[in-house]
Amino acid sequence: GGKLRESLRKLHSSSGRVTKDQLNALLSDISRALIESDVNVKMVMTMREQIKTKVMTQIEAEESKGDDQDDQNRRSASHLSKTVQKAVVDELTNLLNPENKAYSLKKGKANVVLFVGLQGSGKTTSIAKFANYHQKRGWKTAMVCADTFRAGAFDQLKQNATKLRVPFYGSYTEADPVLIAEDGVNQFKKEKYEVIIVDTSGRHKQESALFEEMQEISAAVKPNNTVLVIDATQGQAVFDQALAFHSAVDVGSVIVTKLDGGAKGGGALSAVAATESPIIFTGTGEHFEDLESFHPESFVSKLLGYGDMRGLAEAFKSVDGDGKDTLMKQLELGKFCLRDMYNQFQKVLSMGSMQKLMGYMPGMPEYLIPKGGDQEATGRLKKFMYMMDSMTNAELDGKVDLSKKDDPKVQSRIRRIAAGSGTHIQEVMMLLQVHRQFEGMVGKSKGLFGKNAQAKQQQ
Ligand code: GDP
Ligand code: MG
Repeated sequence: GGKLRESLRKLHSSSGRVTKDQLNALLSDISRALIESDVNVKMVMTMREQIKTKVMTQIEAEESKGDDQDDQNRRSASHLSKTVQKAVVDELTNLLNPENKAYSLKKGKANVVLFVGLQGSGKTTSIAKFANYHQKRGWKTAMVCADTFRAGAFDQLKQNATKLRVPFYGSYTEADPVLIAEDGVNQFKKEKYEVIIVDTSGRHKQESALFEEMQEISAAVKPNNTVLVIDATQGQAVFDQALAFHSAVDVGSVIVTKLDGGAKGGGALSAVAATESPIIFTGTGEHFEDLESFHPESFVSKLLGYGDMRGLAEAFKSVDGDGKDTLMKQLELGKFCLRDMYNQFQKVLSMGSMQKLMGYMPGMPEYLIPKGGDQEATGRLKKFMYMMDSMTNAELDGKVDLSKKDDPKVQSRIRRIAAGSGTHIQEVMMLLQVHRQFEGMVGKSKGLFGKNAQAKQQQ
């Protein structure tokens, strides 16, 4: 993502008229960056041609219109950079918004959701997360283990279910997964369960046997939705995998797992393209809570290296409890004072996964993002908070302008803050810089996160 952004920035800051060579060079850079992010090679090539045609047509149309200053500006490199940037974002976002919409669960009915995917892709784990998510939101949820292939599969599901207090069905002795699936689903239907999740095995010795088994289970339980679980770390292999599953069973939604590690995320685009189905959630860790709703705009923004303010807001929301999310409100207003930052850091410290959150914070400069684990990050955030503890209310509330570094009055405030918190002047300046970056991001997000702009929340 970073590279792509850099090449766009390079172009943006170069001046003068745009040549076709420049456009080609930019498109090559973008293509390389997308392929490095695991976006399917064929998709990248198609996109490249589409964008090229679109932008060329635009340039040619503008060239044919006289040569006054306005036109020259319109043909400037920075204008092209913006045009291309927008075309890339639009194209990627479109790819993630297939025409088929995700099945939405019906209240008071039995919704059978069948999970399929290769062994190890994260089905059983995602089922636990999915069950947890819906149970927490008041759905009567149960799970069925129709994986008789993998040793210990039933134990794994049972353990998760027990921890979550979700009823489960399975067998240690019955070897026919189709029978188990059918019996389990029928039992839970009778007991008026609303979300009945069916786990399947991932891979047999022969792939065709796996697909036959999947088809038989599907025919037996007649799922309302079939969820394909895709492991993001599979990169370029995702497209063919997803296509194979989709041609065997009628995939309706996708969950992309393991987006927490080094996975670059391009596989998500492949999965959607191959199945023509939307992503409903992403998995971002091994715990039950590590499940996130999917928003194409945020995903594309992160893929291109712009950070993800919405992801951050959602993560904070789960700490605040539903309904009183302050960061979301600030994003809507486009305001973010030092006190707001203090409050957000405090929440970060009360949460589990620091590095994940750091990844969300686009205002955090690269050199401040810890590579070595959570302890380092905690230390840095705490130091920032000590500095803010030494600030006056007026400073915290943004009533004093601390941005004029050359103003002796500001310098004296910074000295006071450093002395009061036992830190260095440079560290205080760094804090102020981080805040300005946050402020800039939040400012830009104004209007993007309002009610109308908000993507439909997944069920
Ligand atoms: P299944 O064979 O498809 O049922 O896969 P499992 O659910 O058993 O998961 C395989 C492995 O991937 C387990 O070690 C999980 O903890 C791990 N896993 C699943 N989802 C995620 C995720 O989103 N992030 C990470 N880091 N690990 C995951
Ligand atoms: Mg499993």
